[in-house]
Amino acid sequence: MTSIRDTYLVEQSLLLILGPVLGVLETSLYRVDDNGVVLRALHHSRTVVTEANGVQHVAEFVEEVANDPDISNPVRELLDNVRLLGKPCSKKLESDLLICYPLRSGDELRGYFVFKRDREVTPVEDGIVHGVLEVFTNYYELLDTSQRDQLTGLLNRYSLEMNLGRLWNLLSARIHDSESEDTRRGLAPQTYWLGMLDIDHFKSINDTYGHIIGDEMLILVTHLLESSFRQSDLIYRYGGEEFIAIIAANDLESATLAFERARKKIELFQFPQVGHVTISGGFSGADPSVLPQEVINRADSSLYAAKNAGRNRIYHYDTLVKEGVLKEVASGSVDLF
Ligand code: GH3
Ligand code: MG
Ligand code: MG
Repeated sequence: MTSIRDTYLVEQSLLLILGPVLGVLETSLYRVDDNGVVLRALHHSRTVVTEANGVQHVAEFVEEVANDPDISNPVRELLDNVRLLGKPCSKKLESDLLICYPLRSGDELRGYFVFKRDREVTPVEDGIVHGVLEVFTNYYELLDTSQRDQLTGLLNRYSLEMNLGRLWNLLSARIHDSESEDTRRGLAPQTYWLGMLDIDHFKSINDTYGHIIGDEMLILVTHLLESSFRQSDLIYRYGGEEFIAIIAANDLESATLAFERARKKIELFQFPQVGHVTISGGFSGADPSVLPQEVINRADSSLYAAKNAGRNRIYHYDTLVKEGVLKEVASGSVDLF
């Protein structure tokens, strides 16, 4: 298990291991943020498939819900119990038992492991589950450390690069999901936007006030960005004083508002010693039919245009192309995904 570098694969292997150990066909994992809010769910199921010639084999399915997953009431109540009591709990559900174990790292709750079974867990099974979950959380912690920037605690560039492909597949699945919550509510499907944000004249702040103040500013800007975007949006520290935000917004207008809100929040903030500081940015639709690196390039060239135009502004790629400020470059192939 320790040769796997990607958190998603680690989570998947956890479910893969524990399903057969417990003799169940369906297992789920819920990951929570620092406030205990469920951010992601991973569902694993095995079905015995009988082919026309009578040969049977086991088919495995994994479904990941990356954004604000739907959780049924009984599961939600069970998760709440586990969170409040801080130990595994079960709940009767018709003739079955719904069983949930907390995933903990130290004292912190990191998630839940959930499965349904027709009988209670035996002491031996309980020992195995605890052991596997402990290895898992230790390893997950290591992975998490390698994917986070030490200064700001944000996801780092390595994490972005590791997960872009999968992220794109998820975005694509969500946009094309005709059963989605949005479609049911009669709303346009959710679209995603990738913005690259860069602190203006940061070098001169460092030069004037020193690196410690510079570092402090990076932490404060991080907090301002985190409080400006939604909890489910993703913020990365992409480079020194450069951030990437991948946000959900219904249309260009809302995306523009979201990025503008972040820009204004920073513009208005009084930084200790330094006073007022601004950021510039560029953003582009995170269109799953365009290669992710190309979307990053588009945001980057829009950022560059914002810097050239005088800084403290956030530009949208397509608008710049329409206005003739930027020339559209041949985009990555649409058929690769
Ligand atoms: P522009 O408005 O064009 O973005 O100008 P700038 O000065 O912000 O950009 P430039 O790329 O010239 O300088 C970025 C500076 O960021 C240079 C580097 O010393 C500083 N920097 C990078 N990483 C860190 C860090 O972790 N801490 C501190 N304090 N400074 C950093
Ligand atoms: Mg800069
Ligand atoms: Mg820069």
